[in-house]
Amino acid sequence: MEFENQVALITGASRGIGREVAMDLASQGAFVVINYTNSEDAAKQTLSEIEKAGGKGTTLQFDVSNFDDVQNKVTDFIKNHNGIDVLVNNAGITRDGLFLRMDERDWDRVFEVNIKGVFNCTKAVARSMIKQKYGRIINISSVVGEMGNAGQINYASAKSAIMGFTKSSAKEFGSRGITVNAVSPGFVDTDITKDLPQKTKEKYMEGVPLKRFGTTKDISNVVTFLASKKASYITGEVIRVNGGLYM
Ligand code: NAP
Repeated sequence: MEFENQVALITGASRGIGREVAMDLASQGAFVVINYTNSEDAAKQTLSEIEKAGGKGTTLQFDVSNFDDVQNKVTDFIKNHNGIDVLVNNAGITRDGLFLRMDERDWDRVFEVNIKGVFNCTKAVARSMIKQKYGRIINISSVVGEMGNAGQINYASAKSAIMGFTKSSAKEFGSRGITVNAVSPGFVDTDITKDLPQKTKEKYMEGVPLKRFGTTKDISNVVTFLASKKASYITGEVIRVNGGLYM
C-alpha cells in the first residue's frame, strides 16, 4: 500500500475535509494522527471508523494556534513513533464580517488558527523530517485566498499567506527531501459552509462551470496524491480544486 509504514498527522481531522483525508490515508496504509481541538467525540468516531475498516491511528488533541502545546505534544509523539512522514495542515476557521464591522479579535483569531497554526505545526515536524530526509507537507488554502471575498478579509488574507508560506518553505526544505504544496479548494459542503445563506451559495454556484459544489473526497484525492511518492517532483505548487470557479 502507498503509505505502508508511514505516519501522517492531519490537523482538524475530526470533521470535514481533514476527516476524509485521514480516512483515505489510513485506507492506504498510513498510521494517522487525528488532531482536533474541541470535538473529542467526533475525533474518536473518525478513529473508530478507520479501525473498523482495518486502518490504524490515534487521536491527538491540541489547538494549532498554541505554539507550546503543539511543540510539546507533537515532539512527544515523534519520540514515541519514530517521526512523521506526512503533515496535512488542514485546521481552519472563519469569523466572517464586512471590514468596517470586523473587530480585532476576529482578525487575530483567524490568523492565529489559519496561518500561525501552519507555522506551529510545520515547526514541530520539520526537524524530524529533515533528519529522516523525507517529508510531505500539504497546506490547505482556499479559493478565497486567490480571488478575495467580501466579508472574509481576515480569512482571505490568511489563506493567501498560506501560499507564501508554502512556496518559501518548499524552497527551504527542497534539498532535504521534503516537498511542500498547497491545495486550494473551492466551495465544499462541510460545517464551515453550512451556515452560509442560500443566496450566497446560489451565487457561488453560478460561477462554477462544473455546476456542483466540491466534496470532501474531491479535495482528499488531491491531498493524498501530493502526500504520495508519486508526487515526488512537485513542490511549491498551489493546486486548485474548485470546479473551475477560479482559473
Ligand atoms: P470544518 O468542517 O469546519 O472542520 C474544521 C476542522 O478544523 C475541525 O476538525 C476542527 O476541530 C478543526 N479546528 C478548528 N480550529 C482548530 C484549532 N484551533 N486547532 C486544531 N483544530 C482546529 O472545516 P472544513 O470545511 O473541513 O475545512 C478544512 C480546511 O479546508 C480549512 O482550512 C478550511 O479553511 C479549508 N477550506 C474549506 C472550504 C470549504 O468550502 N469547506 C473551502 C476552502 C478551504 P474541532 O472539531 O475540534 O473543532
